[in-house]
Amino acid sequence: MEIIRIPRIVQDVAGTHRMHGRSIGLVPTMGALHEGHLSLVRMCRDENDIAAVSIYVNPTQFGPSEDLSRYPRDLEGDEEKLKKENVDILFLPDDSLMYTEGFSTHVEVEGLSQRLCGALRPGHFKGVATVVAKLFNIVKPVRAYFGRKDFQQALIIRRMARDLNMGVDVVLCPTVREADGLAMSSRNRYLVQEERSAATVVYRSLLKGSEAVKSGIIKVDKLKELMWGTLRSEPLVSQIQYCSVYDPESLAEMEQVGSEALLAIAVKIGNTRLIDNMLVKPPAEV
Ligand code: AMP
Repeated sequence: MEIIRIPRIVQDVAGTHRMHGRSIGLVPTMGALHEGHLSLVRMCRDENDIAAVSIYVNPTQFGPSEDLSRYPRDLEGDEEKLKKENVDILFLPDDSLMYTEGFSTHVEVEGLSQRLCGALRPGHFKGVATVVAKLFNIVKPVRAYFGRKDFQQALIIRRMARDLNMGVDVVLCPTVREADGLAMSSRNRYLVQEERSAATVVYRSLLKGSEAVKSGIIKVDKLKELMWGTLRSEPLVSQIQYCSVYDPESLAEMEQVGSEALLAIAVKIGNTRLIDNMLVKPPAEV
């Protein structure tokens, strides 16, 4: 595994691979890797000649009161895991080389970026889209792998790649969960024991909603009542930021479930913000 910190060198190395006709896949991450990340890496490894992973805690996607300085980091462990997965290139960019003096160009995916998490984290998706555009330009992958766990992010990146003719196929990968249903996340490391147990309420709430849809309930008011009820039954949920049913393409809130819908939740357990989602389809006869 080649570990490279300088964008220009990654560009040269990737360019040489392309010249030899090798396909490159990219998995962008912020590190503190878990099985969710590794599932993306495995898919990337399977589908491309060259598997590249980036680890970069991108400062521009964190708001002033967010957890940038305490975001979990485990570079040694991450390198070990990626070597085991036979990754070819690990890109660890330095801040100073990603955002050089006078940096002033940004990518904004309008509409999609204002909904759900975007409404609560102003500027977040502008930071994400900009850094991913830079990573795409540096590595020039044919495919890039994103988790459905961050459904809105994946949709925004796919839109960006299409709108700007980036020539990158954005592949969405299933959410990997702990045995009790909690979606794996680097931020789960923040949870103390009691909070970790309480955190399963997010998955339980999604299940409640999804089972209701499967039983034929399609009115969003009713679905929200059931899902919010489950979240509220857990005293350690300190804030419900959103919990509703959305169109999986536009992310507009629905009034009634159509052929497919996205149940999506963002809550705080103590001080830790958790998000999760589930795609659901009503039974054919409804
Ligand atoms: P992050 O390091 O949190 O920025 O995540 C990097 C990539 O891994 C993103 O595309 C995430 O959606 C994806 N990811 C994070 N957690 C999971 C999970 N539990 N299952 C599948 N993909 C995930």
